[in-house]
Amino acid sequence: MGILEVKNVGKRFGGLQALGDVNLSIAENTVHAIIGPNGAGKSTLLNCLVGKLIPDTGSVMFDGQSVLGRKPYEINQMGISRVFQTPEIFADLSVMENMMIPCFAKRDGAFQLNAISSIPSQKDMIERAEHMLDDMNMADKRAMHAGSLSRGDKRRLEIGMCLSQEPRLLLLDEPTAGMARADTNNTIDLLKQISEERDITIAIIEHDMHVVFSLAERITVLAQGTPLVEDTPDKIKGNPKVREAYLGE
Ligand code: ADP
Ligand code: MG
Repeated sequence: MGILEVKNVGKRFGGLQALGDVNLSIAENTVHAIIGPNGAGKSTLLNCLVGKLIPDTGSVMFDGQSVLGRKPYEINQMGISRVFQTPEIFADLSVMENMMIPCFAKRDGAFQLNAISSIPSQKDMIERAEHMLDDMNMADKRAMHAGSLSRGDKRRLEIGMCLSQEPRLLLLDEPTAGMARADTNNTIDLLKQISEERDITIAIIEHDMHVVFSLAERITVLAQGTPLVEDTPDKIKGNPKVREAYLGE
């Protein structure tokens, strides 16, 4: 059993069947990529996993518990963190201030104002934020405005903010979209480091095949809302069905 089990998930928008019948199992402590052409349903699938959308059919189980019907913040508290296509940081705050935000509350008491007793002391929060900045190799940028960071560093900060919540599953939707090659390579190195050093499962939606083949241990190819094939990177590279549907050959 994987840490995430998606069974027979379907999602329709009006007349459009965005997801047909998705079955997906993501093994714990692996890096699993989901690839597929534009409009294949990748973001829709991700939205169904984090409570932003409710599938019409099927089930989504995380660590043996259903996520369906739960609110996004509840799913986040269960241990799933998500990085969006556009970095979600506070541009007018400093890097350190951004990093302190998720340190206000860990998963068990996230942002519940009535749970005052679970809010850590300011000293604890500062220590945790500093520790995470060190881990992210951003300590020297702590006083900078987050808005003035490079695209790669914005992503790095955002990923650090997600990790502060100590998720067991990190979901990333095209984390290197719009990045220059150097920033993309930095992001690949960061994700490699995270998967090696932490007890964490990473599911990544990605267009850039260089990123996919640098990181993924398993790859699921989604086409027209349905998984076409799931395999190791080497097998995916040589699969004629994938070349036809995705690589356009
Ligand atoms: P991908 O992320 O693989 O590019 P999406 O999941 O964003 O694909 O979209 C899958 C299909 O569903 C596309 O045809 C898209 O236009 C459609 N779609 C996505 N979100 C909505 C929505 N909120 N309302 C209507 N159609 C949508
Ligand atoms: Mg998308």
